[in-house]
Amino acid sequence: HEAAFPLTSDGGAVGYLVWSVQQPGTKILDQMTPILRLAAAGILLLAGGLLLWIHQTTRRLAASQEQIEYMAHHDMLTGLANRFSFQTQLDERMREFKHTKRGFAVLYLDLDEFKAVNDTLGHQAGDEVIRQVGLRLLALVQEDDMVARLGGDEFAVLRNHVRDRIEIEGLSRGIIETIRTPFKVEHQEVFIGVSIGVAIASTELPMQLDLVRRADVALYRVKNSGRNGYLIFGEWGLDLDRNETYSEASQGLL
Ligand code: GH3
Ligand code: MG
Repeated sequence: HEAAFPLTSDGGAVGYLVWSVQQPGTKILDQMTPILRLAAAGILLLAGGLLLWIHQTTRRLAASQEQIEYMAHHDMLTGLANRFSFQTQLDERMREFKHTKRGFAVLYLDLDEFKAVNDTLGHQAGDEVIRQVGLRLLALVQEDDMVARLGGDEFAVLRNHVRDRIEIEGLSRGIIETIRTPFKVEHQEVFIGVSIGVAIASTELPMQLDLVRRADVALYRVKNSGRNGYLIFGEWGLDLDRNETYSEASQGLL
C-alpha cells in the first residue's frame, strides 16, 4: 500500500517521495458493510413478507371467487342447484336433443299448501321442511338427474335420459310418495303434499312451447284439480296418480 520514489542529487539520495495509497472506497465499504448487511436482511425480510402477503391474498381471492361461483349456481338453503344452473343444464339438453333426439324430461314440483306450514310452525320450521324435501328428492333420483330448487317451495327434476313414459310416471309417483311421508321437524310431524307438472322432450310433439312452459302448464292444471298429483303435458285425459279423468281436453294446448 506504499510506494517510495528516491530523490537524488549528484548521485546521492537526498530523500524520498513516499506515496501511500489511499483507498477511501474500501474504507467506506468496510464501515458500510454492517449497515449494508442489515439493509439486505431488511430487504429480504420485506420481500419475503410481500411474497407471503401476495400468496395469502391470492388464496383468499381464489376462495372467495369459489364461494361466489358456488353461490351463483346453488340454492343457499338446500345446497341444490338453483334456477340458473337448472336453466343452463336444460338449454344444454335441448341443444343435444336437436341432434340426438335422446329423450329427457322436466318435472316441475310445487309443494301443496306450504304457507300453512309456515303459518303454524314458523318460517324456520318451514325452511327445515324445504331442506328435507331437497334431501329426499336427491335420495330418490338417479345419479345423472338434476334436482334444483327454483325458489320458494318450487323444485325441479331434470331427468337427463328417459327411456319411456312409464319411467317418468314411476318417478312422479315416487316423488309424491316420498313427500307424503311425514317430515319430523322440531319434534313434530309435518304432513305436506306436492303437485308435479311434467314435460317430456319428444319428437312427436311440436316444440313451439318450450319444456319449462309445458311443465308449468301441467303443474297449473294439477293445482287446479285438487293438488297432490302429477300430470304429463299433453296427456290431459288421465290423472295417472289418482286414476281420475280430467274434464279438460287437450285441444288448443299443443
Ligand atoms: P299452493 O298449494 O297453491 O302451492 O299453495 P302454497 O301455500 O304452497 O303457496 P305457494 O306455493 O303459492 O307459495 C309458496 C309459499 O312458500 C310462500 C311462502 O309462504 C313460502 N316460502 C317461500 N319461500 C320460502 C322459504 O325460503 N322458506 C320458507 N319457510 N317458506 C317459504
Ligand atoms: Mg306451493
